[in-house]
Amino acid sequence: MPLTHRLPHTLTDHRTVTTDLPLSVKFWGTRASYPFFLPTHQRLGGDTSCVQLSCGPSQVFIDAGTGLMHAEPSTGHDVVVLSHFHLDHVLGLPYFLGKKKQGALTLASATCSDEAELRFKINSVYGGAGFPVSLSLISPHMNWVAIEPSGLKIDGWHIQTSPLNHPGGGSGYRISHENAQASVVYLSDHEHGTEKDEALARFAHGAGLVIWDSSYDDRNFAPFKGWGHSTWQEGLRFYEHSQARALALTHHDPSRDDAAAAEIELQLTTPVTFLAHDRLVLPQVLNDLNP
Ligand SMILES: [Zn+2]
Repeated sequence: MPLTHRLPHTLTDHRTVTTDLPLSVKFWGTRASYPFFLPTHQRLGGDTSCVQLSCGPSQVFIDAGTGLMHAEPSTGHDVVVLSHFHLDHVLGLPYFLGKKKQGALTLASATCSDEAELRFKINSVYGGAGFPVSLSLISPHMNWVAIEPSGLKIDGWHIQTSPLNHPGGGSGYRISHENAQASVVYLSDHEHGTEKDEALARFAHGAGLVIWDSSYDDRNFAPFKGWGHSTWQEGLRFYEHSQARALALTHHDPSRDDAAAAEIELQLTTPVTFLAHDRLVLPQVLNDLNP
């Protein structure tokens, strides 16, 4: 049964407002490291990290890889949250910003101590030797926000954060909306095997959906230890431990071709644990346990 509440009379004239709108997810990019398009890699796609969460007219994008280039800005407030600043997570930014013609835009990350550091990190990618145009030139009115450890409330969204194990640092996010009963936990890029795992399991406890860095396979992980990524089998173990309600495995290494993806899918035995692929839409995330 829908949960409803009434806003104060001064605001609403007794209008009843629903608070259980669906929280939907769209994966714009699920490939790791660099965009990768080959006939052998059709199943998962080749765009790099970007996930869109929507609740009613509000939308927030997590990471800004090449997947973000294909997304449409809204006419309202778009929020882009970055886990970190490696190229595969920021390559889509200038193209999305260039399409944003109206409404507000916020670029936020917890992987910086303040706004100045956020600007410094972005400006080390854009506006210099590697890319001539700064983001400030493309989008002069964009808001730059360093997310505090206590989290960020913005445009109806509640963004909580927990540190990841990734070279140079990275931030995981648990994101919910005031009008939904579900939350999405995004944990990419992250390497398992430190004390952070236990903190992240508590952070993700009972979430409607966990999105996990599944770059590798347990069988070929050893040479990549220290690179800051995890495996799809670790994702399953984390899913069980955190008691999340569903698991999307993303950030696929370029070596994961269609045959490798099919082999993994044979071993994913429930519909709530799956490989994410580019353009995958989940119309409604399951409600959190004990919201
Ligand atoms: Zn990455």
